[in-house]
Amino acid sequence: MGHATCISYLRDYVALPSVNPMGRSDISPQITGEARYAGHLREQLRGLGLDAELAGPADRPSVIAEVRAPGARETVMIASHLDTVPVDSMEIDPFDPRIEGGRLYGRGSCDTKAGMAALVAALERILPTRKLTRSAIVLGESDEEFGSIGARAIAQQLAGRPPQWVLATEPTSMRVVTHHKGIAIAELVARGRACHSSDPSAGKNAIVALSRAVLELEKLGAELAARPHPLLGHATLSVGQIGGGAAPNIVPELCWLRMDRRLLPGETPEQVRAQLEQTLARAGVKDDVSIARLSFEKDSLDTPHDHACVRACQDALASLGRSTEPDIAAFATDAGVLAAQGMPSVVLGPGSIAQAHTAREHVEIAEVEAMTEFFVALLTS
Ligand SMILES: [Zn+2]
Repeated sequence: MGHATCISYLRDYVALPSVNPMGRSDISPQITGEARYAGHLREQLRGLGLDAELAGPADRPSVIAEVRAPGARETVMIASHLDTVPVDSMEIDPFDPRIEGGRLYGRGSCDTKAGMAALVAALERILPTRKLTRSAIVLGESDEEFGSIGARAIAQQLAGRPPQWVLATEPTSMRVVTHHKGIAIAELVARGRACHSSDPSAGKNAIVALSRAVLELEKLGAELAARPHPLLGHATLSVGQIGGGAAPNIVPELCWLRMDRRLLPGETPEQVRAQLEQTLARAGVKDDVSIARLSFEKDSLDTPHDHACVRACQDALASLGRSTEPDIAAFATDAGVLAAQGMPSVVLGPGSIAQAHTAREHVEIAEVEAMTEFFVALLTS
């Protein structure tokens, strides 16, 4: 039984490892970085007559190509990240794309190589017909799963001539997602004074100071929970890592923690920092504990339901007989990052987030085919 073109492309993509090292150094360079997949896409897009180029560092490239339609009503950028999460403890061969029971298995099959496969298959079908009504920028961006270096660099590159809007393909089961939270990571460091543990009063215990901060952070989390957003629920805070001290018989001079703060639309770095500083003051440790790092890893997404980009997606979905109801995502994406750079964005792609990042990652073949039809409808209507 033959499969659609998009599925043969998806198999090719899955077979090209593009694991995001995510700050780790223990993953083989044989499978890390976007270069293999980006190079393949560049050649494939050039084969369609597009002037595709790589952008960014050689080992972490993005790929970008423009599709210009004469008399186009607008330009939409379709962004489909090139990287995947690592493959530790996967129960299938991550890079041997197998088809079974109407599904395609492999790392990235769902998140989010299926989106790119659908887009390239759609372009291959549309370009010879010259029926494009929208111009498109095809973006395969690097590093979505970690620091979004690809999306940020491309946003700068396009600053003078931004697209009217952006569609980021992520596994949303083909629902149009207009809202998601953002992610900030904070690192707090407590500094004390070391001494022999036989006389603790001679030192200052950094672990105790940071523990006071942790208990107060828990109260801050409860306060955040009392202020829900109408669509997204409430902001959250979770202390995920902690470390400190050198030995049981030394009063510790250093203790650190890292926490994840999920952001609602409108929350700024300044506000989040001020909130943490107040929390340290309330805990009585503001002289001992400092904010060593606060970074907004992903911005929240807050696209109005009546924005033209939402309607464009809804029209294309309606033409396929699929749900047009806007949705939210529980995860953060480059759509938030690009929206924060002034480009209205939505998230929409094949596959379910329940299958992304899993030990047996897969995508329903029928949905990848439907996504191809979606792109054809979007770009020709
Ligand atoms: Zn993704």
